Amino acid sequence: MVAKRQELLSYDCDGLTLERHCPPLAVLPETTDQVASVLRVCHKRGVPFVARGSGTGLSGGALVDQAALLVVTSRMRKVLEIDLENHRVTVQPGVINSWVTRAVAGEGFYYAPDPSSQVICSIGGNVAENSGGVHCLKYGVTSNHVLGLEVVLPDGTVTRLGNGLAEAAELDLRGAFIGSEGTLGIATAITLRLLRAPECVNVVLADFVTMAAAGEAVRSVTAAGLLPAGMEIMDNVTINAVDDFFGYDEYPRDAAAVLLIELDGQAAEVQASAERAETLCREAGARGLRRAEDPAECALLWKGRKSAFSAVGKITPTYYVQDGVVPRSSLPKVLSAIERLSQDHGLPVANVFHAGDGNLHPLILYSASDPDAEKKVKDLGAAILKECLSVGGSISGEHGIGADKRCYLDWMFTPDDLATMSLLRRAFDPQGRANPEKVFPTPRTCGESVRRKLLLKQENENLSSSVSLF
Ligand SMILES: Cc1cc2nc3c(=O)[nH]c(=O)nc-3n(C[C@H](O)[C@H](O)[C@H](O)COP(=O)(O)OP(=O)(O)OC[C@H]3O[C@@H](n4cnc5c(N)ncnc54)[C@H](O)[C@@H]3O)c2cc1C
Repeated sequence: MVAKRQELLSYDCDGLTLERHCPPLAVLPETTDQVASVLRVCHKRGVPFVARGSGTGLSGGALVDQAALLVVTSRMRKVLEIDLENHRVTVQPGVINSWVTRAVAGEGFYYAPDPSSQVICSIGGNVAENSGGVHCLKYGVTSNHVLGLEVVLPDGTVTRLGNGLAEAAELDLRGAFIGSEGTLGIATAITLRLLRAPECVNVVLADFVTMAAAGEAVRSVTAAGLLPAGMEIMDNVTINAVDDFFGYDEYPRDAAAVLLIELDGQAAEVQASAERAETLCREAGARGLRRAEDPAECALLWKGRKSAFSAVGKITPTYYVQDGVVPRSSLPKVLSAIERLSQDHGLPVANVFHAGDGNLHPLILYSASDPDAEKKVKDLGAAILKECLSVGGSISGEHGIGADKRCYLDWMFTPDDLATMSLLRRAFDPQGRANPEKVFPTPRTCGESVRRKLLLKQENENLSSSVSLF
């Protein structure tokens, strides 16, 4: 099915609303065969294409900023096979993340990776971004839960990556595809690992009068050898946004930070771990402690955290979500730096983040009516990423590079690193038609710096040697 002209407007951006471009044409296939036919036509005519799931990505990955066909998977929403005996499920890419757990919860199973967008984002998007979530501290990100993929390559070839078993006999190309942000082809079926739902879950809520004390609590919980299922922090701006959003006072409004720690497993172990976590929080300076033991109360404590982005959307017309990673031990230092940068740049920042993973999500609040907003926001976002890199961190934790950070990739990687990644990409997509110009810096998108010229030169050299290899 082809989208009508006015429908194309709904695809003019993803969750990164700073950049908007209406795609010239969009198709909504329902089967793998249809995706393969579309990509074969694109191949014959040299047409670039961009895959799109639910469009919740936060780095402009599904943005069509050139003449390219948008391939939307939102009609590929079938659960293809549930195989509880082998703890796995196979779904089409447009299936929404939370539907996977819903399909198997009655049998005592669940799908662990749980982005906060889990009620709207697609499994195909999760695979392309290698998405994380609250429970990824203990259970790992999407790549730890994908057993197999059916993929349509840019020339229309349908291939399988991974055999659906825990161990692979072949070259394991799943790792290359997961997190490739649509630059290697389109995933059309995904086999996921299911986990048994834990016997018992407790959530501890600790509040602190300084962010540094909350950071110290995170450090000491991990140093003590506890492995919570999730460990998340919200700052004062976010706490108040969430309390206002729901019209409740679940989180203490005057706290500088609240820390949520989820412990799961067998009842006795959870009880002991929760007590230990509470002691460690108290020693780190927690002012108040609360523990949720029944599922409804646990869900209530998580509800605010999971809705934090939406809640912040109520206090500001627009915001930009940054995504950087720092070693856990550097959390207090980097959070103070973000506070200073926020003041220097004159833009408020709300902080909500996966503290256990050191994965920060500063939300930069701005008004779109300010004509300089885009530049100011981008400058502050970039300054925050430089701060992350200065302590040995990363420019992306889970939201990907997409269009947003493609010009920063060479802050982290050498020309040789980039050329190696590019070489792999070309093996899947020799003409560079799958999500063109995303992830990698190009002269059109990032300007002709000497360094990039060097990079292109290197890429060309590698490309000509790869031609003789294949
Ligand atoms: C409120 C909110 C909270 C969020 N919380 C989290 C979080 O906790 N953790 C997290 O990791 N992310 C989070 N995100 C970001 C986002 O939800 C994830 O990146 C998600 O995986 C994107 O899925 P999607 O279906 O919306 O993908 P899209 O935005 O449609 O696409 C994302 C990328 O995937 C590619 N793609 C899509 N489908 C396919 C496919 N079938 N084959 C190949 N490539 C494909 C696209 O080309 C694009 O590059 C959040 C976003 C929002 C708006």
